[in-house]
Amino acid sequence: MITLKGIPASPGVAIGKAVLFDSEDLLIPRRSITEDQIPTEILRFEEALIQTRHQILAVQRRLAEDLNQEHAEIFNAHLLVLEDQSLREEVLNGLKAQRLNVEAIFNDVVRRHLKAFARTEDEYLRDRTADIDDVRKRILRNLTGRHPDFLTQLSEPGVVVAHSLSPSETAMMHKQHVLAFITDIGGRTGHTAIMAKSLAIPAVVGLEVATKRVRKDALIIVDGTHGEVVVDPDPDTRHRYEVDQRRMQELNRQLLQLKDLPSQTLDGHRVMLSANIELPEEIPSVIAHGAEGIGLYRTEFFYLNRADFPSEEEQFQAYKAAAEQLKPHPVIIRTVDLGGDKFLSPLDLPSEMNPFMGWRAIRFSLARPDIFRIQLRAILRASPAGNLKLMYPMISGIEELRRANEILREVQDELRREGIPFAEAMDVGAMIEVPSAALTCDLLAQEVKFFSIGTNDLIQYALAVDRVNEQIAYLYEPTHPGVIRLIKQVIDGGHAAGLWVGMCGEMAGEPASALLLLGLGLDEFSASPVQVPLIKKLIRSVEHRAAQAVAQEALTLRSGKEIEEFLTAHVRRLVPEAAE
Ligand code: PEP
Ligand code: MG
Repeated sequence: MITLKGIPASPGVAIGKAVLFDSEDLLIPRRSITEDQIPTEILRFEEALIQTRHQILAVQRRLAEDLNQEHAEIFNAHLLVLEDQSLREEVLNGLKAQRLNVEAIFNDVVRRHLKAFARTEDEYLRDRTADIDDVRKRILRNLTGRHPDFLTQLSEPGVVVAHSLSPSETAMMHKQHVLAFITDIGGRTGHTAIMAKSLAIPAVVGLEVATKRVRKDALIIVDGTHGEVVVDPDPDTRHRYEVDQRRMQELNRQLLQLKDLPSQTLDGHRVMLSANIELPEEIPSVIAHGAEGIGLYRTEFFYLNRADFPSEEEQFQAYKAAAEQLKPHPVIIRTVDLGGDKFLSPLDLPSEMNPFMGWRAIRFSLARPDIFRIQLRAILRASPAGNLKLMYPMISGIEELRRANEILREVQDELRREGIPFAEAMDVGAMIEVPSAALTCDLLAQEVKFFSIGTNDLIQYALAVDRVNEQIAYLYEPTHPGVIRLIKQVIDGGHAAGLWVGMCGEMAGEPASALLLLGLGLDEFSASPVQVPLIKKLIRSVEHRAAQAVAQEALTLRSGKEIEEFLTAHVRRLVPEAAE
């Protein structure tokens, strides 16, 4: 039995067999295709060959620059494999004869050759097997990415073990297939972790060595609440976790009884408690967990895992459905926040050195008004269906905000001309997630109706700590005095200008920080649906005056750790059942 310690990403305990996501053979999907899909498969194959060629040439160039020409020439053999016409023909014939997807056919063909080469007497051919296998892997990787279908096609439910998982891969998971997942890399507020929470799949990330220490089919326990993974547990340990699992289920059941009660403190101070969603399918969970609306609708997931862009109509239908289902409660649609760790499938974007500080969010939307306008039209058209609001991600200064509002007004004019109705008074807000926005919130306040603080990003920018990097996760401190001062400034600045101020970063869903935020006067808390009941319980267990006193004292403490311990001690007293 071994125990690994990582970063808790999504709460809950799961026990199951390990399924290794990175194992080559598992990644090769095998599905039947129809005759009219053959040309698409051929095209995919041709594209993968071209992509592979570019990659090999790039490796060669780098080697020639860094080492010498001789090393670079080793890769000529790889290029020859790519140009092999007979291999190509075999694949094309196989496609027609067997009607299977091209990765399966290609893999079978190359494996056959590899076996034959391994048996041959010819030394030259035997030596080529490694080159061929290398090219095989490259082509397969280019063909499949790592085919996310795999995650929905496990033969029995298991615990997925991967070096890394992208948010879009995570979005493909279903609870009935994936009991939990663990990864070597990643951070607590990366979108992979956030997505796991949305799907209520327990997860531990940033384990560093998970893929090295866990073998296929090993029994593992994932404790997503505490960030622990036990491999090959002994019977006592397993029993202990099973008891814990039942205890948590029972706690959740009790907390759900608060569903229809208001989020108000013992002395009657009312706050708004809403939920964040990533996928339209989560709306029933928002309602079931007793949230009063959607405080953050992350719309990026419409754009991921697909070959085209979502149409205006598709988005309109989704936003309208959300507005209708939550009416009269608000639904805050965030305009698309692509980039960072969420990459756009239809656009072949260049990779960036610092994607979180790069071409993302509102920067992307302002650079691609064609895409932005379609989304704005969809949101506006859906607005009469309920209480829709709109907010822009990652505003860093007033110019961006003004430009976004200008485009919004142009789109509104366009709809007026077309005679299409929309809610003229729809509130527009700005996310405050860049320190420059927090520091100039008095200026931004003149141009919007509300603020929503995005602490996932605000923390990473304020502390210069990449939110998805497990190596520096210990520095990612929501309770760092620098972060708390910024938050306080935004709440006070927003209030001074007559705005309400919410928070949709993960911090709003964590009891210790929620207590602090309540005391600082935050008006709206938006958390993952599964976290909503516990935050409601906390709010209902304390007097507002007491929370204010706690916040006052926290502001006098000097380090993130001290503040966290101080807040946790209070929470333990207020809601002991949740403090395990
Ligand atoms: C945030 O940054 O806090 C936020 C809510 O946005 P996202 O997590 O999608 O970047
Ligand atoms: Mg953000």
